[in-house]
Amino acid sequence: MLKTQTCGELRLSHAGQRVTLAGWVHRRRDQGGVIFIDLRDRWGIVQVVINAENAPEAHSVANRARNEYVLQVTGTVRPRPEGTVNPDLETGEVEVNADEIVILNEAKTPPFYLNQDTKIDETMRMKYRYLDLRRPRMQRNIIMRHKVVKFIRDYLDERSFVEIETPILFKTTPEGARDFLVPSRLNPGTFYALPQSPQQLKQLLMVGGYERYFQIARCFRDEDLRGDRQPEFTQLDLEMSFVEREDIMALIEGLMTAISEQVAGKTPMYKPFPRLTYHDAMEKYGSDKPDLRFGLEAVDVTDIAGQSAFQVFVTNAAEGKPIKVLRAPGWAAQLSGTALRSVTAELETMARAAGAKGLAYMALGEGLDGEVKGPIGKHFTVDQKIALFERTGAEPGDLLLFMSDEREIVYAVIGALRGYIAEQLNLIDPDVIAFCWVIDFPMFYWNAEENRWDPSQHMFTLPVPEDIPLLDTDPGKARGSQYDLACNGYEVAGGSIRIHSREVQEKIFPLIGQTPEHAREQFGHMLEAFEYGVPPHGGIASGIDRLVMVLLGEPNIREVIAFPKTQQGSDIMAHCPTPAEQSQLDELWLRVAEPVKQR
Ligand code: ASP
Repeated sequence: MLKTQTCGELRLSHAGQRVTLAGWVHRRRDQGGVIFIDLRDRWGIVQVVINAENAPEAHSVANRARNEYVLQVTGTVRPRPEGTVNPDLETGEVEVNADEIVILNEAKTPPFYLNQDTKIDETMRMKYRYLDLRRPRMQRNIIMRHKVVKFIRDYLDERSFVEIETPILFKTTPEGARDFLVPSRLNPGTFYALPQSPQQLKQLLMVGGYERYFQIARCFRDEDLRGDRQPEFTQLDLEMSFVEREDIMALIEGLMTAISEQVAGKTPMYKPFPRLTYHDAMEKYGSDKPDLRFGLEAVDVTDIAGQSAFQVFVTNAAEGKPIKVLRAPGWAAQLSGTALRSVTAELETMARAAGAKGLAYMALGEGLDGEVKGPIGKHFTVDQKIALFERTGAEPGDLLLFMSDEREIVYAVIGALRGYIAEQLNLIDPDVIAFCWVIDFPMFYWNAEENRWDPSQHMFTLPVPEDIPLLDTDPGKARGSQYDLACNGYEVAGGSIRIHSREVQEKIFPLIGQTPEHAREQFGHMLEAFEYGVPPHGGIASGIDRLVMVLLGEPNIREVIAFPKTQQGSDIMAHCPTPAEQSQLDELWLRVAEPVKQR
């Protein structure tokens, strides 16, 4: 090795030891006769001191060094002089008195500072990702990701799981997104689909008798990107035979708790993880992946507000539309008259963006005089207001936000406002992680455009056993045996017990708009396999990128992926996707319909 020690490991106990280090110049300060270099490697940063008098040659080399030069430094570890100890640095009690320095490689001036935790334009970070990856924060994230994956592998190995790779070039394995297709040169005019997940393959592995499978699997979904989505991403994918829902949930709850505590050093806020039905999650939090780090539960006040003299509420209640309240504790007390108007206007804009026609509010005065500001207060009698305050637990100074519309819209508004209010009121502790399970999802959502049902998870999910007859009579009422794990407002895992009988599977296809011919073409191998002794089975998958993002409190998954794509799905470091050469297209039997626009 070109180094005897790492930069990050040096402590007082090394004092007097002669060491050779190698790394990058993090920062350099020239004080005339003495040059200080903060030398950085993967393990940390240590101060190197080069004195012109004692080490003239090393000093002249250090003179030439600039930020991000790669150096090899030899010298003696010594305690820092009194008063110069740096408590912010793990190696802050020592420095290396260098007498030999070799420049291993020079560096151009980087396009952004690597030695300051300032906000850097993300396009620059992506273009020079290899430099961005040097920054301590990125190193922490990528190394944490490695630790999470390693922990998962060990945890599952100890529990008799077998890691099995499944093909990337395969047939459509839908999870509700568009497929990426790969043209086959050897079979003109035909295409592989990249798996949206290994769903079919892991079920076939259960038919294959492995009983406990997992894989750290790459999945591909061609959908519009968001902060928590990438076109390719990594899942812990897992499947077990001879299990019930409780078995999978217990395994994953144990795994997630252990990862949080032992790898991320964070104890989950609730143990055991709370369980919500889909219905309750939507009613209270307007989301099937609720953020439970804070309260802000929506409260139904249809019976009270429907009796008021506010016409919108009266009509809505009569039409069966719910009226719900979100109580923002103490917010009204923090706002002057003008601020109250601008905040409520902003909240109303958000509500409209979520599909609502408006948002009503009551701002409660701080005094005991019962003063209520806001346009709807006057339509409520004193008794109705008292009933409202009791129901919602309102206190003086609170801001009550009222939403009423079709149930789905009310959910969307609650979902949109909760997180925002929590942020504004500082109700979120960034160090907290709060897992919860969501169960009893509807099997299907009605797709009005296509005039068919869409599976709420995927087409292999078993209905809750007592709901199987509903497939014939009222599919919209059937619940799936799906379970989702949410953490801090993100879905971090989802799975289900599977259909293992061909008859039930065949009932699903027509409901979701698959003709028998098409189903046979796409999934004939599954249907056939299901005739050869299928064990009851179920599984789950957890998005590693999202999980690591949440554990680290990062705002988007690009922060935990070494080489992510931009929101437009491109890699701006390597410049892809790119048009293909005509000769490549010819080989693949492809013709591009329109000339590709040069970006
Ligand atoms: N294949 C599912 C997904 O990717 C997970 C599962 O059902 O196991 O969401």
